[in-house]
Amino acid sequence: CGIVAYVGHREACPIIIKGLKRLEYRGYDSAGVALMNGSLSVFKKKGKVADLEAFIAGKDVHSNIGMGHTRWATHGEPNDANAHPHFSSSQKIAIIHNGIIENYAALKTLLLSKGHTFKSETDSEVFINLIEDIRDNSNCSLAEAVRLALHEVVGAYAIVVLSKDDPDQLVAARKGSPLVLGIGKGEYFLASDATPIIEYTNDVVYLKDHEMAVIKNGELDIRSKEDVKQTPYVQRLEMAL
Ligand code: GLU
Repeated sequence: CGIVAYVGHREACPIIIKGLKRLEYRGYDSAGVALMNGSLSVFKKKGKVADLEAFIAGKDVHSNIGMGHTRWATHGEPNDANAHPHFSSSQKIAIIHNGIIENYAALKTLLLSKGHTFKSETDSEVFINLIEDIRDNSNCSLAEAVRLALHEVVGAYAIVVLSKDDPDQLVAARKGSPLVLGIGKGEYFLASDATPIIEYTNDVVYLKDHEMAVIKNGELDIRSKEDVKQTPYVQRLEMAL
């Protein structure tokens, strides 16, 4: 039910954990984080953000890019396997997702027939395997695969995707579920609302429905799912913490 992501010059994990705590008021049953610490690593747990923190204590979580999630279960009971982030079958890409994919059952049947495997009961794991399927079969970029996948899913989503093969890149999209982008000096933040972002930067862009944001090598690109480049409307927030 909450999303936080970061790319920049700072350590991503503490920013994400702190941000997830700020989003705790939204309610959740599990929490997780994905980081690029040599490989693409996922740490996730049923329970509170504090339980996730205890779980990662002492582990190598050094990374300048990452994403975290608090889950409010809609498809599949609250447990470690159903917690986000979710890997694709190849474990090369991972997703965090808020919302509901209504046509996930039909998509899952199709993806199973193509050899994809699933570790959870979530609709979100279907979404990331769909993205992987498109990327592998169309031989396109990660961002293009996400964009094409947006045309296949029915429902509500705010997503962030991380890829092992694109270690400097965050791809985000939304429809129906909120997603705010924070623009700092050589760093970017994504979150379900501005509270995890505001202590680092006041410059935010509220992503619109059917938009996606690609942050690659420090450059931001916002486009519609029809692939039309958008000029971001940057708002300056003055907010007391
Ligand atoms: N539908 C997804 C799930 O059940 C995401 C729920 C959420 O918004 O946290 O895992």
